[in-house]
Amino acid sequence: MHELAIAQNILEIVQQSVPENQTKSVRGIRIRVGQMSGIVPDSLDFCFSAIINDTHLQRARLAIEQVPTLSQCKTCAHRFGIEDWVFTCPVCQSTNLELISGKELEIVEIELADEGDEAI
Ligand SMILES: [Zn+2]
Repeated sequence: MHELAIAQNILEIVQQSVPENQTKSVRGIRIRVGQMSGIVPDSLDFCFSAIINDTHLQRARLAIEQVPTLSQCKTCAHRFGIEDWVFTCPVCQSTNLELISGKELEIVEIELADEGDEAI
């Protein structure tokens, strides 16, 4: 499953970025996912929740921001958003397009709880 591998990847990156004694404090992980990346946010969220259960990151929650697909026509330089997977320039009908955004998969921010906060 595509999303499971990605969830594991995110987990590894977070574990590498946050000092081990602070991983319990991770509350949120903000990521940007392009619409064209083929990732289903709900599915990714589900996989991530499943794999963090056995880790110190079990209180972390994914916040997934979807990035719309944006394209530029190579013929007339018109920029437009791709909808319904139609890859044709609305101005000149060219199909010679360059993808500007929509394939992102990046971690934007890792949020830690404040020290002494919620000492449950
Ligand atoms: Zn065009």
